[in-house]
Amino acid sequence: MSLHDIQNSITSAEAAAGRPAGSVSLIAVSKVQPNARVEAVLTEGHRCFGENKVQEAAGKWPDFRERFGKVDLHLIGPLQTNKARQAIELFDAIHSVDRPKLAKTIARLAQEVGRCPELFVQVNTGEEDQKAGIMPADADSFIAECLAMDLPVKGLMCIPPVNEEPSLHFALLAKIAARNGVAGLSMGMSSDFERAIALGATHVRVGSAIFGERVAG
Ligand SMILES: *Cc1c(COP(=O)(O)O)cnc(C)c1O
Repeated sequence: MSLHDIQNSITSAEAAAGRPAGSVSLIAVSKVQPNARVEAVLTEGHRCFGENKVQEAAGKWPDFRERFGKVDLHLIGPLQTNKARQAIELFDAIHSVDRPKLAKTIARLAQEVGRCPELFVQVNTGEEDQKAGIMPADADSFIAECLAMDLPVKGLMCIPPVNEEPSLHFALLAKIAARNGVAGLSMGMSSDFERAIALGATHVRVGSAIFGERVAG
């Protein structure tokens, strides 16, 4: 697969779902990939990327941005409060807002820094102990709490359990978003982004299908 193939698959999935062309943003997940692969995708003209660690992103993206111009950068991994300032300065979107303490920290730091990335509330749709995200039963009150702090909540995000049909989780996320009046849905990865688009994904996070298998991590 390649960037071009994935873009074509997204266009087909949008059409199959009766959705307008261009309604789904492709976040190319470049975590752990060798810089040469990332550079190849930048050279093809793609400008929207995802990273799951603040430190790793800080090590490569300032340089890429200097060379390639504006790049839309999304944090898709868990965020510790002690890295929140750096994340706010580096990223255009944070998909892992999942607890009140982090939301409050982002609200405070965004005031200080003078900018706030677009935010996605991560929901632990599979209620897995080892996974980040707010529990579905707590999602409504947490989203309300974020909005009351004037945080720019653009949407919700989920990572379905590995051994379950992802569509059930995509549908649950879409339902929670609809009843809370948030429009964005960050869902779908290499193996299931077409099913996510059928269920309303606005942002798909695709790594290995674009860049090849991750060498490590
Ligand atoms: C790594 C990662 C992805 C991309 O996974 P692929 O299966 O390589 O497409 C998507 N979302 C999150 C949160 C990730 O950590």
